[in-house]
Amino acid sequence: MSDSLFTKIRKGEIPGNIVYQDDLCFAIEDIAPQAPIHILIIPIKEIEKVSDASEEDINLLGHLLHVSKKIAQDHNLDNNYRLIINNGARAGQTVFHIHIHLLGGKSLEWHPA
Ligand code: 5GP
Repeated sequence: MSDSLFTKIRKGEIPGNIVYQDDLCFAIEDIAPQAPIHILIIPIKEIEKVSDASEEDINLLGHLLHVSKKIAQDHNLDNNYRLIINNGARAGQTVFHIHIHLLGGKSLEWHPA
């Protein structure tokens, strides 16, 4: 299977601004930011979407949330930010490698849920 777009960015094969990296995940700035801060938190393991994750991924998924919190703090988002995961094409997912969108730095008015 070929690498996902995000893995290619992590490997430096496609340009991208990597803002965080550890043993399990990495984070990049979104190419089309929807807020002043728009960062994607991505596991190194290529899982297409949350609904494809298995029990062995429970700690990994928790780690992504924990890293999201750290990145939000590093960007001085004052504990006000939004985390979004699109799961599946009809939910708006366009890159099929799990990622959490971290959005902040402005008032977020849209309340879908
Ligand atoms: P999704 O729609 O799958 O939830 O989110 C995919 C995100 O990846 C979108 O917000 C889109 O702007 C971002 N994206 C797509 N292509 C690239 C790219 O080449 N580089 C970066 N940094 N982000 C990208």
